[in-house]
Amino acid sequence: MIIGIPKEIKNNENRVGMTPSGVFELTKNGHQVYVQSTAGLGSGYADHDYQKVGAELLPTIEEVYQKAEMIVKVKEPIEAEYQLIKKDQLVFTYFHFASSEILTHAMIQSEAVCLAYETVQTNDKKLPLLIPMSEVAGRMSIQEGAKYLEKPMEGMGILLGGVPGVPPANVLVLGGGVVGTEAAKMAAGMGANVTIMDINLERLRYLDDVMPANVNTVMANELNIREHIQNHHLIIGGVLIPGAKAPKLITKDMLSSMQKGTVLVDVAVDQGGCFETTQPTTHAQPTYLIDDILHYTVANMPGAVPYTSTIALTNATLPYVLQLANNGWQKACDENEALKLGLNIIQGHVVNQPVAEAFDLPF
Ligand code: NAD
Repeated sequence: MIIGIPKEIKNNENRVGMTPSGVFELTKNGHQVYVQSTAGLGSGYADHDYQKVGAELLPTIEEVYQKAEMIVKVKEPIEAEYQLIKKDQLVFTYFHFASSEILTHAMIQSEAVCLAYETVQTNDKKLPLLIPMSEVAGRMSIQEGAKYLEKPMEGMGILLGGVPGVPPANVLVLGGGVVGTEAAKMAAGMGANVTIMDINLERLRYLDDVMPANVNTVMANELNIREHIQNHHLIIGGVLIPGAKAPKLITKDMLSSMQKGTVLVDVAVDQGGCFETTQPTTHAQPTYLIDDILHYTVANMPGAVPYTSTIALTNATLPYVLQLANNGWQKACDENEALKLGLNIIQGHVVNQPVAEAFDLPF
């Protein structure tokens, strides 16, 4: 198959759809790979890294889309890319269709085959192509939180791990899934006192088993949350109800009970956020203050660490990309139920129910 790796053109996006090691596996399997010049630079890969593993470089994004049967990328296509996508072309990327009617209509019109990373789902209900980015965002939430707790960053001015003779900070993690687990591990490793809250008792049992002694588990309910936010300095929002908007666990009225300079990191911002006062921000201007509480609400956190995120993404996508390249999308999806669930739009027809329902489209 002919595969194209275009450069990401969305603002501040430095990841790329495939690492040179991924390209190597594709060329080894007899596929032709076209990579747009400088596509990998933001993730630390020079053009010659791709050439060495058999890719051919193309100078423009137009040529990549023109030549490729399958496009492998990271972010959903933006307007400038809509007209580049061809009829019957397979596009494998994050789409998040339900949050954009314009994109959905553009992809219907393109008559391309749109396979969305975020809806590939295995038998055990896991989302294997979302997990790596949750892992990145979860770990990063503590790194960012620790930074914004510093006084010059408008935080209260407390060191996460304390020092001998001075107690560490208290970190509250709402949601004990992928984001929450990675956040708790990082915070615990830095010496903070960590509390994880979840509504799933089984999950709390598991976390209690595997986490170090400076991590406690507490059932998530309104009273417990109201009590804990008063003495926690960094609060991470990592809850998810699949397919739904995030529940608002911290309402605006609760901010006044927190200590001034408390930092809230809402990782769940991409699902509307789990704090009532959450508004999406960007890496260029990541934080804002409301009632002296500092909010960090960046919707694409992994984009800031492309050296890590690009590799993590390729590690997860490559097995699927290989199946698609080796067998074509129809056979690959027939043979792999998880991959089939990634199909959102096929040649003008929406085949994902939530997307159809979101915009009243035939299904
Ligand atoms: P997950 O499904 O692994 O975990 C979610 C957890 O939330 C589950 O354990 C669930 O029991 C718990 N939960 C649900 N409702 C709750 C409630 N009312 N109170 C407490 N806990 C509750 O999900 P995840 O992979 O950890 O993702 C979490 C969120 O982070 C998602 O919205 C995801 O899209 C988002 N995310 C954002 C970024 C970013 O850059 N901002 C990156 C990756 C993931």
